[in-house]
Amino acid sequence: MTDIPRDHPRYQSLVTREMLVKGVRDGITSMQGLIAHGRGEAFDYLLGEKTTAPALGAEKAAVAMLLLARNPVVSVNGNAAALAAPEMVALAKEVNAGVEVNLFHRTEERVGKIAGLLRSNGCEPLGVHPDRLIPGLSHDRAKASSEGIFTADVVLVPLEDGDRCEALVKMGKKVIVVDLNPLSRSARTATVTIVDNIVRALPNMVKLAEEMKSLPRPELEKIAGGFSNETALSAALDAMMETVQSSKQH
Ligand code: ATP
Ligand code: MG
Repeated sequence: MTDIPRDHPRYQSLVTREMLVKGVRDGITSMQGLIAHGRGEAFDYLLGEKTTAPALGAEKAAVAMLLLARNPVVSVNGNAAALAAPEMVALAKEVNAGVEVNLFHRTEERVGKIAGLLRSNGCEPLGVHPDRLIPGLSHDRAKASSEGIFTADVVLVPLEDGDRCEALVKMGKKVIVVDLNPLSRSARTATVTIVDNIVRALPNMVKLAEEMKSLPRPELEKIAGGFSNETALSAALDAMMETVQSSKQH
């Protein structure tokens, strides 16, 4: 890993890039994943690279939904594995969710490596031998496990592709995505879109889950029910436009 000085103004962003480069070298992240991250970074720059108040609200609503779920599943792809594997496993433990390996660019080798990483973080992942197909998607992208995503009522799919997000919503699931691009199809189709970087969103959600898991169900229902994805996306766009406006004045 390249040595990045701690006092570098873009320290966190550079460390994140290094984690993804390592992910590619370790066979966990795809090359396409690097490009997807670049698109995310551009939007993160506009957000000021911080968790905004509306994003924190979305994280809270998402945690409430996961805690209320009958069969919640946390889905892990190559970028999520490289950037937040310990936090994804910790969140799944807090909300009693399954963890499923779910890859857009699926190869059995990458599935095996991600599963190994998840095991080393203390969970036995689903999705290694998927036995069901999500309707409406082409074969490789449709694979899901019958105990996991296929039967889940609430799915957390960080960085999910728009098409698959839509297919999961069509199956009647509540879909939570983490996506820095509030304009993407995933962001617009999901039940809850968290417009935040996965490296901030996941640690926030673990902390929220620890705090919220003792709340009574009606309280959780109020938090989940009070969320509007349309309002949250519009607030994210406002935050980005504010950055642009204030830069113009200086
Ligand atoms: P679609 O319109 O199909 O949803 P897309 O913009 O999602 O298209 P992808 O190639 O699936 O296209 O891009 C992945 C998405 O993940 C991008 O929108 C990007 O903003 C987001 N993303 C990438 N890295 C991160 C990250 N670290 N944290 C949060 N979001 C990220
Ligand atoms: Mg998307």
